[in-house]
Amino acid sequence: MNQEDVLGLFKRCGALLEGHFLLTSGLHSALYLQCALVLQHPREAEALGAELAVRMKALASPPDLVVAPALGGILVAHEVARAVGVRGLFAERQDGKLTLRRGFTITKGERCFVVEDVVTTGGSTRETMEVVLQAGGIVTAAGSLIDRTGCKADLGVPRTSLAVMDIPAYTAENCPLCSSGSKPVKPGSR
Ligand SMILES: [Zn+2]
Repeated sequence: MNQEDVLGLFKRCGALLEGHFLLTSGLHSALYLQCALVLQHPREAEALGAELAVRMKALASPPDLVVAPALGGILVAHEVARAVGVRGLFAERQDGKLTLRRGFTITKGERCFVVEDVVTTGGSTRETMEVVLQAGGIVTAAGSLIDRTGCKADLGVPRTSLAVMDIPAYTAENCPLCSSGSKPVKPGSR
């Protein structure tokens, strides 16, 4: 599965839309990405997870477990973990801070892959890595289905993505699409 295959799959699932969008951040963008629309298809989710597992195993030896930030990363961790044959955990926010709940544990010295659906700033991957370190685990590699930073976020560990995109977002005042006369739409509103 190369980048073209992955983006083609996203487009077929309506998970990658081209146009003029008003994002939840308030910024405008010519592309809209919603991984849940691909991951709702179990077979596609499994295939993407298997591909990400192959690429991550090329960076580091097989891990003892896979961890992701909730909610977007849960299915990705699950599918990568399935492919590797290990546990898939997720960290979730409690009082604004990512934490392991539900009895999830990471034993001291366990090697972890940290995964996400989309890396936008790298912030939630970094935060998940911190959760692993706090628990005594070791992060050996990071991965995401899509990297929309154009691979710019430095995570301090080897990382990979199934597709790398550089998706600019603009304020309304600076939006070239607005200045060409088009009006932004909220994804999912029609
Ligand atoms: Zn605009």
